[in-house]
Amino acid sequence: MRGKMFVISGPSGAGKSTVVAELLNKKREVALSISATTRGKRAGEEEGVNYYYKSRDEFEEMIKNNEFLEWAKYCDNYYGTPKKPVEKVLDEGKDIILEIEIQGAMQVKKNFPESIFIFIAPPSYETLVSRLKNRGTETEEVVNKRINTALSELKFAKEYDYILVNDVLSDTVDNAISIIKAEAFKKDRVINDLKIFND
Ligand code: 5GP
Repeated sequence: MRGKMFVISGPSGAGKSTVVAELLNKKREVALSISATTRGKRAGEEEGVNYYYKSRDEFEEMIKNNEFLEWAKYCDNYYGTPKKPVEKVLDEGKDIILEIEIQGAMQVKKNFPESIFIFIAPPSYETLVSRLKNRGTETEEVVNKRINTALSELKFAKEYDYILVNDVLSDTVDNAISIIKAEAFKKDRVINDLKIFND
């Protein structure tokens, strides 16, 4: 049985990374795709754990060599999902999460429509702004840019299969796990995958 690809997006400030980190803690059999990026390493981040950090030239070379499942330019930096590791995990029958921004998610929707798309939204504008400001890792200019980007990203929520409003973190994580569990029982998947329906 091939694994399923879960695409999780949402504006920065929605708490997406925390939701994904907690989810992986609770559901250890699900894998996470590690992206490549040209953005600088933030304090506390590690090569190969949070991202593969690339120069612009290296990233563009990877695009040319068709190494990405999807890629996008976001807030002046490149971000992309390396194709090979994702395919390996899916071939092993494991589910994988891609935590990516919206342009990339829309490429996945076009090229891999069987993926499952989850949008994480902040409960309010105020929460979004305060989460972005309190992160404290970026300059004011970058924070303002991210607020504007986040507001325009909210409009894409309707393109996703599920929307989780991230108010209470533990509830959001449990709800995301419920979605992952329920997707395993989708009739098309069961009928395709189970021998008893295909004999
Ligand atoms: P950050 O710089 O805050 O880590 O990430 C910025 C945005 O890029 C987030 O919305 C994050 O989900 C997204 N992102 C991370 N990796 C990828 C990727 O491989 N592809 C795309 N399209 N977006 C990504």
